[in-house]
Amino acid sequence: RAESALHSAKGGGRNCIRLAAPEDARLLRALRTAVATSSIQVALQPLVDPTSERTVGVEALARWLDDVHGWVSPGVFIPLAEKNGLVPDLGAAVLERACRDAGVLVAHLGRPLMLTVNASGGELVREEYVQQVAEVLQRTGWPAHDLVIEVTESSLEAASTATMATVRRLQEVGVRIAIDDFGTGYSAFSQLDAIPAEYLKLDTSFTAATTTSPRRRAMLSALVGLCRDLGIKVIAEGVETPEHAALVAEHGCDLAQGFYFAKPQSVGDLIASLDRVPHRTTQQGLTGSGSP
Ligand code: C2E
Ligand code: MG
Ligand code: MG
Ligand code: MG
Repeated sequence: RAESALHSAKGGGRNCIRLAAPEDARLLRALRTAVATSSIQVALQPLVDPTSERTVGVEALARWLDDVHGWVSPGVFIPLAEKNGLVPDLGAAVLERACRDAGVLVAHLGRPLMLTVNASGGELVREEYVQQVAEVLQRTGWPAHDLVIEVTESSLEAASTATMATVRRLQEVGVRIAIDDFGTGYSAFSQLDAIPAEYLKLDTSFTAATTTSPRRRAMLSALVGLCRDLGIKVIAEGVETPEHAALVAEHGCDLAQGFYFAKPQSVGDLIASLDRVPHRTTQQGLTGSGSP
């Protein structure tokens, strides 16, 4: 159970919990403790070049094992953390764990990888955020230019001057920015203009729709073209099938991510999968030595 939930806590069916008010209070206490004791883990999901199927990076996704409930979805505990002021500490803990785990993977592979880490809107408005990131980079030895901070459209909707200043200062130290979940909320061209992001992540729902909707395919073509002109790289999320993979490759997406290539998993499992008879594309991608 633990393993499968680590792979996919999102909309996690059986593993998903519904919150009642008293339970909410207990869960909040447990989350506070988990953050304070550095018990929040991360799963790493490969980011793949869709034409070569080579893994060029990983996204770090927060994972929390609660004593009572088992794995709790980040869809539940991230908003809980946001509402209760736990985000600065949670975010710092996740970033540090992500840099360390990805560092182990890089050491194993003997080549650099890009690491993406999600940030809440609330983190970006904090004056101390950039300093906090810089300290983690220094402590862990992870290179700034191999770090990408993912920010969601919705957190950018509230794009304040503070947020923009943070984005600029991150870029000054070499950290890059990705707009996450594009195509879900009120995706607007104005955002592409306002936020000088290096990456755009197309949401799972957008990727899924491209196989059934010619209109979505037209939008994908146009979006990839627009991003190319703007110097923004496109990452397709939620690539679940060979059809999705073929489509995003055909349309020129720079990177792809999804269950078809590899699930989010612990760094140990990711490395172990290299030494077992592994998921075809994971081994090929991670070693970069597989032939089709
Ligand atoms: P996200 O950043 O858009 O992350 C991608 C989500 O899609 C992950 O869910 C991942 O497990 C899932 N996924 C990966 N491949 C596929 C696929 O092929 N199909 C489908 N349907 N889903 C796929 P997860 O890990 O449950 O995370 C949910 C959300 O929670 C994340 O969405 C992100 O917004 C948030 N989150 C996770 N970790 C953190 C964190 O450390 N900090 C913050 N602020 N938010 C986080
Ligand atoms: Mg993300
Ligand atoms: Mg996303
Ligand atoms: Mg998403």
